[in-house]
Parts: sequence; structure tokens; C-alpha cells
Amino acid sequence: MVFVLSSDGQPLDPCHEARARQLLNKGRAAVYRTYPFTLRLKDRTAAESEVHDHRLKLDPGSKTTGLAIIQEVTRRVVFAAELTHRGGQIRDALLRRRAIRRSRRQRHTRYRPARFLNRRRPDGWLAPSLAHRLDTTATWVARLRRLCSVATISMELVCFDTQLMQNAEISGLAYQQGALAGYEVREYLLAKWGRTCAYCGKTDTPLEVEHLVPKGRGGSDRVSNLTIACHDCNQRKGNQTAVEFGFPHLMNVAQTPLKDAAAVNSVRWALYERLGATGLCVEAGSGGRTKYNRMCLGWPKSHWRDAAAVGASTPETLRVAVGSVLLIAAKGHGRRQMCRTDKYGFPIRHLPRQKRWFGFKTGDLVRAVVPKGRYAGVHVGRVTVRSRPMFRLKGIDVHPKHLTLMQQSDGYGYTFGVVGEKRAEDAASPVS
Ligand SMILES: [Zn+2]
Repeated sequence: MVFVLSSDGQPLDPCHEARARQLLNKGRAAVYRTYPFTLRLKDRTAAESEVHDHRLKLDPGSKTTGLAIIQEVTRRVVFAAELTHRGGQIRDALLRRRAIRRSRRQRHTRYRPARFLNRRRPDGWLAPSLAHRLDTTATWVARLRRLCSVATISMELVCFDTQLMQNAEISGLAYQQGALAGYEVREYLLAKWGRTCAYCGKTDTPLEVEHLVPKGRGGSDRVSNLTIACHDCNQRKGNQTAVEFGFPHLMNVAQTPLKDAAAVNSVRWALYERLGATGLCVEAGSGGRTKYNRMCLGWPKSHWRDAAAVGASTPETLRVAVGSVLLIAAKGHGRRQMCRTDKYGFPIRHLPRQKRWFGFKTGDLVRAVVPKGRYAGVHVGRVTVRSRPMFRLKGIDVHPKHLTLMQQSDGYGYTFGVVGEKRAEDAASPVS
């Protein structure tokens, strides 16, 4: 599907790729943006068109955030994307900077004054790597709102809905209160036991919910009697209690409720507030609900599918109308650093004050047509500029005279991923 804007720049309903090709061939539309591909009509205003409401759905993750836009009237996924954050890189860069500054302070020169307990953090402060996650997600929500008529937003807010579990560890109610409750309990247990088998510590294996005191020996379905185990351990333990099986300490762990669940979700709450500030109606869903919805739809796991399955508003049937998934990678906007140092903090080179060279800047999406030589052919990608006229493009040297600009640098790199086939038997596996 392709985003369409009216001649006055208002978002219209996305259209099929074939229709987009027709519009372009007839000269009725022009390309407005390459990623995500957007057309602007020349002969129709927003007032002359019927526009449907869309729902933007988000699944915020630590490394990758899933994004999906759903046309609610037709129950179609019209846009799917996965946004990869660079929180780890930001953290590393700041640690590097801190080490260099510290070594300069140690040398007692005038260039970096001493600093000790003279900074304060405002309320609601988030670490830069986390704030970045929040900012990039909010950026994409704002961008997509300009390209598509988004009326509502759904996002995954918490891993598990403790209300739905009836505060299981406190109330002592059995956890079988419908299919959805089972999913919430499973997510809760996975978080509590660190997604590993409680007995052998195995991680990359299907994990099962396991009773510490077996049901046959009078054990209950209370969450404090449940743990996570791999299939082998579950079978080997059989009708023994955890104490008999040689793991008495697990009983204590099982009795303590998970306290830091709220801290884990701090970025999501901040995002929830940020999205609420857009003035749109924001629906919050739990991770257990997402998984339940995805299983009901018979979908395999991926970030954008999780996003499409977020929240109670997810329809029972959902048709995937997209041919590919837009993979968006945050690349940053360059550095302000004017002097690069070696690993000891000594300056080794200075950077020019200029960002643009020969009409291009680093990160611009370009198309290179190289007529002859070793790299003859057409190359498309993000360019790295240099002050001498030989730019880098996908590992090769290209002269700027061969380049045409496709899209200005916006801090993101783009590729496409496959949508992936429907997998029905996934519903049978206990935990993925
Ligand atoms: Zn095991």
C-alpha cells in the first residue's frame, strides 16, 4: 500500500501499488516521499475525497518498536514497519565521552574544570538511551499522522495485566478465568523467572508453566505455586515437589511477588503520556493480550504483527494488505564534536565546520549511476560525504557528479523486510 496526500497536502486513504502506478503514469500524482512511499495528487483536494479513520498501533520494545496502521472499516493492515532504536550506541558514545572528559580532568589542565556533585536531574528524567527510544517513536507517530488520517492510537503499555489476573498472588484465586487470563499469567511468570527454565537455566527452548507442588499432590493454581520450566525438566520432575526434586530455594522465590514490573515499563508509561499529549484517543493493551490476539489471528511472531495485535480493539479477522515491511533504523543526525580523539583522549583530527559538500550531506538517500570503471552500474543508498570529491556509498567510492538526490537525510535508514507467511500451528505451542 502507498500513502496518498491530496493536492492541498492533507492525508487521504492509502491506495494499492497498482493504483499508484496508474496515477503516476497518467501524471495525476507526483512522488512526495520515497520512504515511506507517498504520492501527492495534483487534481484532488481533501474536501472532494472520502477519508476513512485509521488506527495506529505500537508495540514499544527495547531494541525494536513495531508499528502498524489498520483501516478499521475494512479490517486491513495498510502499513507495517519496524523501527530499530540505537539506544545501545548512544550509551556507548556517552560512556566514551565520559572516559575522555574524566582523563582530561585528571590531567588538571584548564580545559575541563572539575566536577563533583554539581548536577541535578529534573523529575521524570530518563537516561539518554531511553529518551531516544521515546523521541524516535514520537517522531514516527507524528510523521505517520501527516501521511495517513490517524484517528486513534493503540499501544502496548504493560507486560501483563495484573488486574485481569485478579492480583493472583494476593487474592489466591485460581488463574483459569478464561483464555486471556492464562496469557497474562504466562507473561507474568516469564518476567518473574527471567525467561529461563527454573531448574536447568535453559533459555532458548519452549518453556512451560509448571506447578512447584504438583496438582496431584494438592498443589494449587495460585501464581505463587507456578514456575517456568523446559519440557525435559517438567517431565523429569513428574509428580515430585520442587523440594523433593532438589530445588527448595525456588519456594521462596515463588512466594515473592514481582516488584520491579512498573520500573521495567517506565519508558512505556512516558510514551503513553507523550501520545496522550497529541490529543488523539490512546488505547492501552497488555503484552498478554497482544500474544492472545496474535495467536487467535494465527500469526507468527514479529514486531509489526505484535503491534497490529495490540489492544482489545483488535478485530477477530485482520487482512494483511501490505506487500513488505518497512524496516526503519535510527542512524542519528551526526555529531557536534569538532575534534576527534584517539582512545587516550588526545586530538587526532579536526572536523570541518561544514556539513554539506557538493550539495549533499551524510545520510542523504542517493542514486548513483556510475558509467564506467570497476563500480559501473546503478547504486542506491545512504551516502557518506567527504570534503574531497569521493563519497562513500555502500562500501564503494563514488564521485558526486554521478549522484542524484532521492530523499534528504532524516536520521533514518530504510530497507524492506518480508511479511512472512501465516502459520496456524503456532497456536499449539505453549510459549514462544
Ligand atoms: Zn529445564
